[in-house]
Amino acid sequence: MQTVTEAQLFGFCDAILKGLGCDAHERKIVTDHLVLGNLSGHDSHGIGMLPTYVADATAGIMKLNQRGVISRDSGAMIVVDGQAGFGQVMGHDHTAFAIERAKKNGVCVAGLINSHHIGRIGTYGEMCADAGLASIHLVNSVSYRASVAPWRGIEARISTNPICIAVPAIGGNRRLILDMATSQSAVGKVRVAYNSKKPVPPGRLIDVNGDPTTDPKVLFEEPKGALTPAGEHKGFALAFMFEVLAGCLTGGNTFAPGSEKTGGIQNNMMSVVFDPARLDDLGHMAYELKTYMDYIQATKPIDPEFPVILPGDPERAMIAERREKGIPIDDGTWAELQNAAKAVGLSTDLLSLA
Ligand code: NAD
Repeated sequence: MQTVTEAQLFGFCDAILKGLGCDAHERKIVTDHLVLGNLSGHDSHGIGMLPTYVADATAGIMKLNQRGVISRDSGAMIVVDGQAGFGQVMGHDHTAFAIERAKKNGVCVAGLINSHHIGRIGTYGEMCADAGLASIHLVNSVSYRASVAPWRGIEARISTNPICIAVPAIGGNRRLILDMATSQSAVGKVRVAYNSKKPVPPGRLIDVNGDPTTDPKVLFEEPKGALTPAGEHKGFALAFMFEVLAGCLTGGNTFAPGSEKTGGIQNNMMSVVFDPARLDDLGHMAYELKTYMDYIQATKPIDPEFPVILPGDPERAMIAERREKGIPIDDGTWAELQNAAKAVGLSTDLLSLA
């Protein structure tokens, strides 16, 4: 296990992306995104994704230095074509377009298609919240192989299809960010367990026969099993509808065999971004929010060590902790990062790159 500082993480992430051929704009967006993923405690969507990005860019599946392009435009509704580009840049461009339109029209419904993996969806909700807007982001993911079994099924036929709901900081209340997969676990978290040679908690995985297992290898070694949906049928039903909205209604694609795929990890996203100030007086909204947040947090806890908290709180606490104590990187991920550095012609002494 390595423990690195935020600055070191920035340094070697930037160096690997530069070695890969990313321009300064792309490096800044991707590095900020990945480092914040680790800082927030979502190592599944931090710099551990870099080796996959290096491999997909080298294979020509993900194109470097692209910009999102509006391919359909009816004012408050747009589709952004991600040009098979770096997903973090495409997610950023898509959200920036949606924010601009929501400021103008009050609301924007925006589809993002043809993009590589867009990473931690919370990033896009945070962008909207920081612009004073509320947002809902629904995502599907299409890759080489599905990872999640539909409820009652054995075979993986869907992905971890995440959702983010963001509410800006209104009248002194803190920003609220819900950002989660619809499966019991994100694939990246099972990857971190696999790389760390640790079991995953029970209930998250089934093996090739549909039997429960805690061994993360069922996602990475043959014969492959699957992740289970969160909340039994409810997580599956949400994931299915997100695939319909993000994958079918935007002009994107799905896991269905006849649906066109470019390889690598592709994400489609449907975002609804709106200005809450057009729905109510912000003073009243702030009062209702505070009253409700206080009421919920004052719930008597089952275990006093674990009080009731709100979406966005664990990430805020983890950022403070990791800024102070450093960011742990497991040995398997460290070795993969060294290989990625080597693949782009750099030293495998990552800290010397920082
Ligand atoms: P998770 O299970 O850790 O859930 C995170 C969410 O739950 C956060 O909003 C957090 O604030 C909230 N939360 C946690 N504990 C809470 C508590 N006690 N009370 C109230 N709220 C609480 O996250 P996950 O499902 O493993 O997802 C991890 C990351 O993976 C996310 O950033 C997601 O966007 C990303 N992801 C991306 C893709 C993709 O295809 N790009 C796919 C799946 C997941």
